[in-house]
Amino acid sequence: MKYDFDLFVIGAGSGGVRAGRLAAQNGQKVGLAEEYRYGGTCVIRGCVPKKLMVYASEFSEIFEDAAGYGWTTGKCSFDWAAFMKSKDKEIDRLESIYKNILTNNKVTHFRAHAVLKDCNTVELSNGKKFTAKHILIATGGHPFVPNVLGSEYAISSNEVFNLPKQPNRALVIGGGYIACEFSCILNGMGTKVTQFYRGEQILRGFDEEVQNFVAEEMREKGVDLHIGKDIKSIAKVETGLLVKDNLGNEIIVDQVLYATGRIPSTQNLGLDAVGIKKGLKGEIIVDEFSKTNINNIFAIGDVTNRVQLTPVAIVEATAFIETVYKDNPTSPDHDLIPTAVFTQPEIGTVGLSEEAARKLEDIEVYSATFRPMKVILAGRNERMLMKMIVSKASRRVLGCHIVGHAAAEMIQLAGVALKMGATKEDFDRTMAIHPTAAEELVTMNTPTR
Ligand code: NDP
Repeated sequence: MKYDFDLFVIGAGSGGVRAGRLAAQNGQKVGLAEEYRYGGTCVIRGCVPKKLMVYASEFSEIFEDAAGYGWTTGKCSFDWAAFMKSKDKEIDRLESIYKNILTNNKVTHFRAHAVLKDCNTVELSNGKKFTAKHILIATGGHPFVPNVLGSEYAISSNEVFNLPKQPNRALVIGGGYIACEFSCILNGMGTKVTQFYRGEQILRGFDEEVQNFVAEEMREKGVDLHIGKDIKSIAKVETGLLVKDNLGNEIIVDQVLYATGRIPSTQNLGLDAVGIKKGLKGEIIVDEFSKTNINNIFAIGDVTNRVQLTPVAIVEATAFIETVYKDNPTSPDHDLIPTAVFTQPEIGTVGLSEEAARKLEDIEVYSATFRPMKVILAGRNERMLMKMIVSKASRRVLGCHIVGHAAAEMIQLAGVALKMGATKEDFDRTMAIHPTAAEELVTMNTPTR
């Protein structure tokens, strides 16, 4: 049978664009549909604008610290609207790069919603219908907001990137990546931030020492973090939003930001009509080669709810291309993924937490906290944490956790070492770079426990 396309991709995020481009470069005829903006969550309302906001928010401390280094600075203030304008310009630039990647590689793309009609047919919201030999679903995810009385007054991470006005007082709900990052961003920009987390400690699943350390440092920087607290209701009042919590307290804020997880975008795609199997969260179930239960339909990225990270979606896209078009069945490697949380201070982490490792085998823990050189003259009471989890039997470093300035940059390289199976002795025989904070990673001689 002759199809309109060899491959039709639904979604122009990190995964979809990479797969579309690589397939086209490999000689396939590729079609793609994107209903919103090219670049997906990461570029349009996720990692990239978030990182720009992190940079913007860090200047408040930089100006404060400058005095300790002999600088006289004038009165500094933050112009939210001016920043948003610059940020939007950059996001527009990046979006056009993503679009051009598709155009330049001869991917036929449509700004339209796509629905599967059968295993080989997609129908677009512009009325067009196409057949394809293979279909790749890369529709990503979207924020989940719990159904609470008045939650319609709250915003999610989708809206926070386009707020016309900086909130004077914000309440952030959640204790995961997005909640903690935005508490720090808004706090750095001068918003009075309160954060509610329903559980015992923020960043569940991270190393406990890291969780406690970051919570303490965030408080030190001014985030009013409440543990064991959740919203009961939100109501609009003259002076803002009146929030009642589960303990019977009230607070008035200008914005409530829900950062309570993201769910796969699998609605209105025609999946049920075609019989594609989904999991409990609505995620598309795939095998180790990203193939759904339908032979010619594959899914990658957040829509599969494996690991919700941009580089993971990209690796899944590359593995899909190898498998389907290069006769080289490849499953994406989800082991030892380094990750960073852009809180202030920043977290970089790879491998097992102390608690997870201890359940598996006998371990040594090397842990150090110290005031980095950079903050001393500034008189800032900020500390760093460096931690390594080592197998007693194999001497392999099972986990590495860093909290502090440039942790994300450092953990990328520690990730290479762990992936190569580095032992504690490999770290020890690596010459330190002095004076840096990173040298601590190769000079921790005595186990803490
Ligand atoms: P997370 O899964 O990281 O955190 C969700 C948080 O919301 C948890 O603290 C959770 O609590 C809480 N929560 C969930 N449901 C409710 C509820 N009904 N009421 C109150 N609280 C609730 O999700 P995020 O939204 O922060 O981020 C989504 C994903 O995006 C991340 O997992 C990550 O993979 C990715 N991401 C990565 C970033 C990075 O690499 N720097 C940055 C931002 C996002 P509990 O712990 O009790 O379940």
